[in-house]
Amino acid sequence: MARFFREEDGDTNLLKQKKVALIGYGNMGRALALNLRDSGIRAVVGNVEDIYAERARADGFDVMSIDRAAQGANVMLMLVSDEVMPRIYLEMIAPTLKRGDALVFAAAYNVAFGFIEPPAFVDVVMVAPRMVSAGVRERFLKGEGFLSFVGVERDASGAAWETALAVAKAVGSLKAGALAMSFEQEAELDLFVQQGFMTALYQLLNITAAMLVERGYPPEAVCAELYLSGELAYIIEKAGQVGLAEQAQTHSLTAQYGVLARYEHFSEPKFKRQMMSILEEIRDGTFAQNWANEYSNGYPRLKEYLERLARWPTWEMERRTMKLLAGEASAAHKEEDTQRRY
Ligand code: NDP
Repeated sequence: MARFFREEDGDTNLLKQKKVALIGYGNMGRALALNLRDSGIRAVVGNVEDIYAERARADGFDVMSIDRAAQGANVMLMLVSDEVMPRIYLEMIAPTLKRGDALVFAAAYNVAFGFIEPPAFVDVVMVAPRMVSAGVRERFLKGEGFLSFVGVERDASGAAWETALAVAKAVGSLKAGALAMSFEQEAELDLFVQQGFMTALYQLLNITAAMLVERGYPPEAVCAELYLSGELAYIIEKAGQVGLAEQAQTHSLTAQYGVLARYEHFSEPKFKRQMMSILEEIRDGTFAQNWANEYSNGYPRLKEYLERLARWPTWEMERRTMKLLAGEASAAHKEEDTQRRY
């Protein structure tokens, strides 16, 4: 059984004796920086001089260049985007590393796939929130905490676990708890849920919406029934709180019978094979290599995919439904926001 850590397992005093730097002040960087500060940990921010640096200053942090922040720190939270991290590490972090330093990753990706190989005298730990950055801050403010995966890739000092748990506690995770995990498994699991599970869900939504509209159901009713009513979000949220099994029992008997009677219709071996091939390409490093090439070439495929995504027919249905459900004025506002994203 995986080890599970709680509030009493972490000691934030350990961080008070260290110099802590956040490398990167993007979405997760900001959320973790604010949480650390509210837990009484002094930390500086290393970021390039731009709006993120300005935002960090406006939030009251001492902001400096990445290499300067790294030079003065013993504990560095690595919070720049994963695809740029190897270059930043090599040019600005690696030359500053000293015996006893600890590198803390919020995603195991770069270490697990060998893009970052820290020297043997440095602790390499992970505190990877299972929560989007906005939730990391919101839950902290509500005193609720959020689940993390924590791990130690290298324990050079003999105190790497203590550092990981101190960080997990100080950023507010241990109120909900942290599950011990290897770097490899965290990276693979994270990618697979995005690429296997979420992608299958997107396909399912698009196929279902197109099929139902083709069979004459009003697009607005289809979108509302599928997810815009908020029922699906409610079910998922409840499942996260009480478990899927217990949540399912709150549905009508007709619904329960229907789901269980049809369940085997979808037990296609082909589906499992497709999922396995996605997992294999993650585990053998094919995906990580493709994504590294994509970054070095200026994201040509990502741009193409995003253009294609913007043309998905479901969005038009979604926009119309949102207009209907939310009223013209606020829907027009949302439509503008959606267009801006692409
Ligand atoms: P963001 O994209 O929000 O932040 C990116 C940070 O990287 C900014 O500080 C940005 O600074 C910096 N950056 C980007 N490009 C460059 C560059 N070329 N040179 C120097 N700095 C650069 O990333 P996230 O906060 O989402 O992710 C940070 C880490 O947290 C990642 O490891 C991610 O996997 C992990 N994580 C994120 C979650 C989330 O919900 N966002 C959830 C769980 C883990 P600037 O733009 O000023 O250059």
